[in-house]
Amino acid sequence: MGYETIIEDDIDILVAGAGLGGTGAAFEARYWGHNKKIVIAEKANIDRSGAVAQGLYAINCYMGTRWGENTPEEHVHYARNDLMGMVREDLAFDMARHVDSTVHQFEEWGLPLMRDPKSGTYMREGKWQIMIHGESYKPIVAEAAKKSADKVFNRVCVTHLLMDDAKENRIAGAVGFNVRTGNYHVFKSKTVICGAGGASNIFKPRSVGEGAGRVWYAPWSSGSAYGLMIEAGAKMTQMENRIVLARFKDGYGPVGAYFLHLKTYTQNGVGEEYESKWYDDTKAMVGDYIDHHPTPTCLRNHAFISEVNAGRGPIHMVTMEAFQDPHLEEIGWHNFLGMTVGQAVLWAATDVDPKYENPELTTSEPYVMGSHATGCGGWASGPEDLSPPEYFWGYNRMMTVEGLFGAGDAIGGTPHAFSSGSFTEGRLAAKAACKYIDDGKAEGISVSDKQIADLKEKIYKPLETYKVYSNEVVAGTVNPNFINPRQGLDRLQKMMDEYCGGFGVNYMTNEKLLSIGLKKMKALEEDLEKVAAQDLHELLRAWELKHRMRTSECVFQHTLFRKETRWPGYYYRGDALHLDDDNWHVLTVSHRDRKTGEYTMEKAPLYHLVSEDEKEVTEHVH
Ligand SMILES: Cc1cc2nc3c(=O)[nH]c(=O)nc-3n(C[C@H](O)[C@H](O)[C@H](O)COP(=O)(O)OP(=O)(O)OC[C@H]3O[C@@H](n4cnc5c(N)ncnc54)[C@H](O)[C@@H]3O)c2cc1C
Repeated sequence: MGYETIIEDDIDILVAGAGLGGTGAAFEARYWGHNKKIVIAEKANIDRSGAVAQGLYAINCYMGTRWGENTPEEHVHYARNDLMGMVREDLAFDMARHVDSTVHQFEEWGLPLMRDPKSGTYMREGKWQIMIHGESYKPIVAEAAKKSADKVFNRVCVTHLLMDDAKENRIAGAVGFNVRTGNYHVFKSKTVICGAGGASNIFKPRSVGEGAGRVWYAPWSSGSAYGLMIEAGAKMTQMENRIVLARFKDGYGPVGAYFLHLKTYTQNGVGEEYESKWYDDTKAMVGDYIDHHPTPTCLRNHAFISEVNAGRGPIHMVTMEAFQDPHLEEIGWHNFLGMTVGQAVLWAATDVDPKYENPELTTSEPYVMGSHATGCGGWASGPEDLSPPEYFWGYNRMMTVEGLFGAGDAIGGTPHAFSSGSFTEGRLAAKAACKYIDDGKAEGISVSDKQIADLKEKIYKPLETYKVYSNEVVAGTVNPNFINPRQGLDRLQKMMDEYCGGFGVNYMTNEKLLSIGLKKMKALEEDLEKVAAQDLHELLRAWELKHRMRTSECVFQHTLFRKETRWPGYYYRGDALHLDDDNWHVLTVSHRDRKTGEYTMEKAPLYHLVSEDEKEVTEHVH
């Protein structure tokens, strides 16, 4: 293979993936590490990469403590409630106590935040959300990261983390390839901060064929954060906690502003309010959680799904009343322009005028991520002043692999961080990574030439496979010697949908199905050794697929382990249809052995550090 090998040596902090978490990491690393070498490797272009690429219209996590609006304790309470109890409260509180300063910085850097002309406070969309003119959100935060980093490598897809050959379980950098030139990039680094984002497209999406690619989370979110960390042997947590969104049908247009701002509401296909009908049923499944305020998102989904299953679908958003007011009508359409313009286009194209017709809602396919309203991700150490011993091993946001840190979707147990919280987590991780280096923890790292050469061979193998066998196509794209990335993705999505509780089976699974799914996953993994790429674009798709496969395997393992239905509306364990606080008021933690590929699962204690009256947080001294 004629691709050049480009080695970047002596890096102190490598940021792998520079979305909101990664940009925060690069920025803060410079503050604490004036003389440190900071390098970014990003598979797209940092100016428009990640889930915020298109822009956003709201920052969903802002306390407003300087105006006495909310406290970090209240935010932890809110996240705990929404996640049916399952939050790493040390991490969540730590993010919440720092997030306001992040938002103030964004404003200093030029992000237009809307202010109330009278009070001077930021205009709110909801209790936690503030409104922004956010088309250029990503370029603005990218600017700060670019100024902070020594080098930015755009278009480099990181495929593997490098491991230290001198010391077991210690990180030594990463490798990948440039998706345009094909060059092989080796980054030798004392620490890696993984910010490679969440996972869309692992479950079969509702939009297929002509509509393929239209998904709720960014289609380029390939689960790389999880794929990279799991392969490196990092422990993971709450990977069963996938999220399902109730959104406008087919365009995935957001509904938050409609509920909060336009005061619209939902009804079933025959015009009835339906949520209250499912109260008793839900109470029987989850007990008092249904009485919590606000109603946890998954439980609202449960009512939605149950009503549709009862034959009274579709569920509509009642817009016809609000849209009679020209001002609200305008806001309703504007709401999509910033980040989901496709919804407005779809309505226009399919003759849906929300002034005269209530648009349909649907529940999405599941997504796996850790910064939006769900908490999948790496099992990370917390801050030393808050974390109990089980949550603390020296450096904030460090995984169970030494020198490997994470931020945003990469970190587990920290839902409701959103864009601002992810950036904040990046800052916290970078500060800790600088300390890790200054404490001498990264001394003596060595990476053998063999490790580098072996990974190079592995990365380009799909191109080689194609070259060797491409003449043996028997029909169309069918080749007895290989599968292409699209075929592999279709197979993965079908497997996740049917065995792991996707929309196609009404989000239902059980032990038997999960076990069959895991067996099939092993076969897929073997076949992915024969994935072929006819060009660099397909090579990127091949590696994204491998990261998605590893993520999915982990989701299977966690879903199998948790023998209860903790989040009805996100998924159901048919063989354990009730929430079981006696046995499962715990966090789930997995570890995949790097050498054998075997998983071990454990329960980790779930500490509620913020007291019920929301006034205090328990401190721990180490
Ligand atoms: C539809 C949608 C709506 C949202 N709405 C809001 C909102 O209104 N307000 C709000 O505050 N938040 C919102 N969020 C949440 C916010 O976007 C995320 O919380 C945040 O972007 C997560 O940050 P991250 O760094 O983990 O991931 P991302 O920002 O997605 O960044 C991941 C980065 O890693 C890169 N990458 C991936 N794989 C690799 C690889 N293998 N090698 C190198 N680089 C790689 C990607 O290109 C990307 O730059 C929304 C998200 C979505 C999807």
